[in-house]
Amino acid sequence: MTTATVVGSGPNGLAAAITLASAGLEVTVLEAADTIGGGTRSGEAILPGLLHDHCSAIHPMAVGSPFSRRVDLERYGLRWAWPELDCVHPLDDGTAGVLHRSVTATANGLGADEKLWRTLFERPAANYDQISGDIMRPLLRIPRHPIHLARFGIPATVPATLLARAFRTEAGRALFGGVAAHAFQPLGRPLSASIGLGILTAGHRYGWAVAVGGSQRIADSMADVLADHGGKIETGVRVRSIADLPPSDITIWDLAPTAVAEILGERLPSRVARAYRRFRYGPGAFKVDFAVEGGVPWRNEDARRAGTVHLGGSFAEIAAGERDIDAGRMPERPFVLVGQQYLADPGRSAGSIHPVWTYAHVPNGYTGDATDAIVTQIERFAPGFRDRVVGTTTRTTTEFAEYNANYVGGNIMTGAKDLSQLLFGPRKTLQPYDIGVPGHYLCSAATPPGPGAHGMCGVNAAERALRQLR
Ligand SMILES: Cc1cc2nc3c(=O)[nH]c(=O)nc-3n(C[C@H](O)[C@H](O)[C@H](O)COP(=O)(O)OP(=O)(O)OC[C@H]3O[C@@H](n4cnc5c(N)ncnc54)[C@H](O)[C@@H]3O)c2cc1C
Repeated sequence: MTTATVVGSGPNGLAAAITLASAGLEVTVLEAADTIGGGTRSGEAILPGLLHDHCSAIHPMAVGSPFSRRVDLERYGLRWAWPELDCVHPLDDGTAGVLHRSVTATANGLGADEKLWRTLFERPAANYDQISGDIMRPLLRIPRHPIHLARFGIPATVPATLLARAFRTEAGRALFGGVAAHAFQPLGRPLSASIGLGILTAGHRYGWAVAVGGSQRIADSMADVLADHGGKIETGVRVRSIADLPPSDITIWDLAPTAVAEILGERLPSRVARAYRRFRYGPGAFKVDFAVEGGVPWRNEDARRAGTVHLGGSFAEIAAGERDIDAGRMPERPFVLVGQQYLADPGRSAGSIHPVWTYAHVPNGYTGDATDAIVTQIERFAPGFRDRVVGTTTRTTTEFAEYNANYVGGNIMTGAKDLSQLLFGPRKTLQPYDIGVPGHYLCSAATPPGPGAHGMCGVNAAERALRQLR
């Protein structure tokens, strides 16, 4: 029987393992941590009964990814839930940009930007199932749906700052800018609109869903699918050298390229080793989870009903902050994401105390404490928040890297998403999953289509391995 080893049990490692196991291979997953899931782990952290997502929280890209549509995770216990409103971006005057799952409802709330929002999202969202087949794989391929892709792709090629100029209201511009900032890169760069447009389009099709019972359930349901196909997972096994691997025909690495370069050393062809060692990591995240009595007292009423709240004020302020962190400077008012998953999944709360998930964008390797900056940003839009906090836990950039070696310097994206790394992955090749050692492949979020708990880097790498095996 053909054997395969997958190193790392993040969503991409597990999706690769399932793809190989369902093709009949004997698969073993080796995971360094004591629990599986990589960026989809959750658990208690502050008070008993209060459930926090340690990393990923909101999953517009995962619910309807080609992997999720192919593998019925719901049959293995995964349940998605949606908040009343997907995302709210409050402004200082008390108004806000409000993202509904429906394009029409969102556009109707944006006044003079109604037509622009419809133009950007109406058709792409309706055709998202076709488009996602093209954008969830390496971009430099002949598209299967060129017309649908062009409608989505043309605005995606420009810098977010350029697209922002087309908006006439600050609410519309900031709503778009907050989602574009998920790319963790200066918003003036080419293609910097693409990640935001991808998330928004997926969200208009599938909503900003949370996993009932925590994101850990995504990994747990994937592990159950794998077990059904005969696959095994061993936790507490950190692979440090090739000698730590069992003999196998295929090895798939769910790791950062720099880690693969270190582990495989001389075995990597020198051009690949050079590219992997030079792989660039983007800015970092500083995370604070809060236990909040009665939830966040947002001034804007809609923010009280939203699963995600983006804090950064105007588009210009967010763009300046993203420029700063990319240049290694900590802004006074960083961009902050707030998750209120308990609104969709009330079982995460302990009575009237709710888990509130936040992180700030900070420079890579930032050594300071961003807790105050996060609290100040929340207070700016929710005066009185501080008094409701009954507990906190933080994770610095260094702690992120210790928690998961893929988050170098706290870069939770596993790599800067600049033009070259977004288009090609870790090196300039049309086969981003090949690492130049026969039988070995890379499948982490450093490869296309990039970060998110959608599993598609894993599926693509495993399919490449299966094609070569044949
Ligand atoms: C704070 C935070 C918030 C996020 N929010 C969202 C969100 O809301 N929505 C979303 O879709 N995505 C989000 N993400 C991103 C998402 O979690 C990642 O893009 C995704 O988990 C990447 O999956 P992966 O399989 O490539 O790698 P990972 O999930 O990073 O998994 C890699 C695994 O490999 C293991 N490993 C590392 N080194 C070794 C070794 N030497 N030997 C064995 N095992 C090893 C690690 O322990 C880990 O389990 C977030 C991430 C973070 C950290």
